[in-house]
Amino acid sequence: MKVLIVGGGVAGLAAARGLTAAGHDVEVYEGAPELRTEGGSVTLWPSSAGILRELGVDLDGAGCRLETLETWSVRGRRLGKIDMNVVERRFGGLHALHIARRELVERLAEDVPVNYGHRIQAVDPDRAEITFTDGNTARGDLLIGADGRNSVVRRALWGESPAKLNGWVTWQAFTTLPTEFIDTGRSVMISNGRALGSMAPAGHGKALWWFDLRAKPGSPLWVDAPNAMDLLRQRFGHWPEPFPTVLAQAQTAQCFPHYGHRVPAVWGRGPTTLVGDAAHTMSPAMAMGSGQALEDAWTLSRSADDPRAYERARTKIVRRVAKMAGREIPSRQGPLMGLLPDSFSTKSSISWLRSASGYLQEEAWLQRLPEAEPKKLPA
Ligand SMILES: Cc1cc2nc3c(=O)[nH]c(=O)nc-3n(C[C@H](O)[C@H](O)[C@H](O)COP(=O)(O)OP(=O)(O)OC[C@H]3O[C@@H](n4cnc5c(N)ncnc54)[C@H](O)[C@@H]3O)c2cc1C
Repeated sequence: MKVLIVGGGVAGLAAARGLTAAGHDVEVYEGAPELRTEGGSVTLWPSSAGILRELGVDLDGAGCRLETLETWSVRGRRLGKIDMNVVERRFGGLHALHIARRELVERLAEDVPVNYGHRIQAVDPDRAEITFTDGNTARGDLLIGADGRNSVVRRALWGESPAKLNGWVTWQAFTTLPTEFIDTGRSVMISNGRALGSMAPAGHGKALWWFDLRAKPGSPLWVDAPNAMDLLRQRFGHWPEPFPTVLAQAQTAQCFPHYGHRVPAVWGRGPTTLVGDAAHTMSPAMAMGSGQALEDAWTLSRSADDPRAYERARTKIVRRVAKMAGREIPSRQGPLMGLLPDSFSTKSSISWLRSASGYLQEEAWLQRLPEAEPKKLPA
């Protein structure tokens, strides 16, 4: 089957790998002149490690394997911990990883031929036909919109359905300061109920720090705020170390508004479907954007001849994940925070990660392990 993929981000590159391996003739068209490597870092949960392995992506030395996810109070008291070593053992050695987006897309793009500088301006979803900005066209048996939040393919399918701001933004930057979170496998999260601060190691001597806070166009801490660093220092400079030190040294930070889509029951029509943010842009709050894009690519690669079956298989999971992500972490911090034993938090994470992954639920990964360790997973 001839497959056209619009967009060469995480979703498009992963789909290209999976569909090529399944024997299809794949063409990827990316509007940018080269691989887009901007952005901060992303968390990939164990399901992503399994899918990337199946897609033949080499993760050797990539990012930083996460060992603990800690929650602290704003006074620096440790409230709880998720032990990712336990999670990893549960999932047969599939590990959670924090990785710079640059490194992730570079690894995904290895050996994938991409037609860069090919922006699509029009789509005929019923004929799987795309029109480039120079007026040329291409046609396939299957057309996949992997063109992100402002997807042209989605618009051709469903009309204007812009992703909506949810009132939150992330301010983020990398640091190379030698904090306790550089290359240690530990990450930390602090919330005061109105904002969230976090830091996670991304490997190669770098960690990403970020703050999630409420902001909308016109707010002082909206995109391109000229005095953003001063405002962030005023607001968070008294939080526990390493935040004050890192903020004191930071020159700039990037602002990422949080968007959400309505996730339809069926995403495509005829020979056209969607993957990744084009189908289900979601807040980064649960660190699920890239992982769900990989789940799409993996699922679609195995059912390319029936795109509606792919969409149905994904919708239920994606809706649940997008809903959870849309409830930003500070908004759902409950009174039990700090009272729950670490073992409970770890067990809950295992259940949540499994419920968010068709790959883990299928348990096909169990059969591919050298020794199928965990026979029974928590429901
Ligand atoms: C530059 C960039 C930086 C990012 N930084 C972060 C970050 O720091 N943290 C985070 O959590 N998430 C970040 N994201 C989002 C994250 O990558 C996605 O949520 C997730 O990986 C799903 O990816 P996707 O491939 O569906 O969408 P995207 O990553 O948005 O990729 C879509 C691709 O399609 C291309 N495209 C769009 N329109 C067209 C068109 N008409 N014709 C041809 N090509 C087109 C785009 O150039 C892009 O390469 C970033 C995305 C991008 C593009």
